[in-house]
Amino acid sequence: MNINVSQNVSLKEYSTYRVGGPARFFAEAKSWEAFLGLREFAKHQKVPFLVLGGGSNILFADDGYPGLVILNRMEKVIIQGSIVTAESAVSTAKMVLLAARHNLGGISGLASVPGSIGGAVYGNAGVPEVYVKDVFLNATILPANSNKPLIVGSDYANFGYRDSHFKKTKDIILAASFQLKKMPAPLIQKEIAMHAKARALKQPVGLTCGSFFKNPGTFPSAGWLIEQCGCKGMREGGAQISEKHANWIMNNGKATASDIINLALKVHKMVKEKHNVDLEPEVQIIPENPFRKI
Ligand SMILES: Cc1cc2nc3c(=O)[nH]c(=O)nc-3n(C[C@H](O)[C@H](O)[C@H](O)COP(=O)(O)OP(=O)(O)OC[C@H]3O[C@@H](n4cnc5c(N)ncnc54)[C@H](O)[C@@H]3O)c2cc1C
Repeated sequence: MNINVSQNVSLKEYSTYRVGGPARFFAEAKSWEAFLGLREFAKHQKVPFLVLGGGSNILFADDGYPGLVILNRMEKVIIQGSIVTAESAVSTAKMVLLAARHNLGGISGLASVPGSIGGAVYGNAGVPEVYVKDVFLNATILPANSNKPLIVGSDYANFGYRDSHFKKTKDIILAASFQLKKMPAPLIQKEIAMHAKARALKQPVGLTCGSFFKNPGTFPSAGWLIEQCGCKGMREGGAQISEKHANWIMNNGKATASDIINLALKVHKMVKEKHNVDLEPEVQIIPENPFRKI
């Protein structure tokens, strides 16, 4: 297979935070064979690889990524009865809207979650009304230890809050199937609009990856703990804690990855001191999560 790998590609435009340095190697994959070839390339170069979806939950460091970033471009959707199968680069919102046109719903809340199906399965994305795990049937993966695609179910995925077994492996998620509900399209559209409206009321708009930290339990939320420390509005360079939602760190357009990370580290320390809670980032910090060392 012919693979096309570029070098020193800036990762800024590939993350919704719009920060980060270059990838040493960068390529796109439109098929599982391309993923396989690229994984072999990384192995041959003795560098790590990373699959990138919509970049809405990833923060690249200012030094960039010392390996191969593979931008996922597998974008087909198949609908059979009430089962929707989407390749992993399909945007979650697009899948919800496409399913709605076929009178298939039960996932309206996911229409407001940015990013790809691959990223959504990886992190069990969702809103309080519906998580990926609630409708997940199976995923086709390129397992870390095999060169052939494999179909795996919920037992393997082992979903948890913002978590799945895929976070512990280097499996590449190629596609996923979801069991949806027959529902009239206008009703689904109404639900989608309702979710979008509720979100607009409580969430800020700008350069961000959404919630920075995971909620430590059902209550209190990370946002509440941070707000109690008086962090709203706090700044570090071009990064700022949103005035609207304390768990959202925004890039005002001039932030570096270090600004965002340093601000998050400050918040982490303040929450630890005031509430004795160790917040864990939800955003994937690449290449190294500085919170693991704390
Ligand atoms: C404004 C905003 C609001 C948000 N609101 C929510 C919300 O309500 N609920 C929620 O759950 N999340 C929310 N998020 C976070 C984000 O949208 C989700 O985590 C999303 O599912 C990430 O998908 P992605 O394709 O952008 O993943 P990326 O950011 O591209 O990647 C995230 C991680 O997934 C891995 N990954 C991606 N694709 C694959 C694949 N095919 N195979 C293997 N690994 C893969 C990457 O390597 C990386 O480690 C929000 C983000 C933003 C910017």
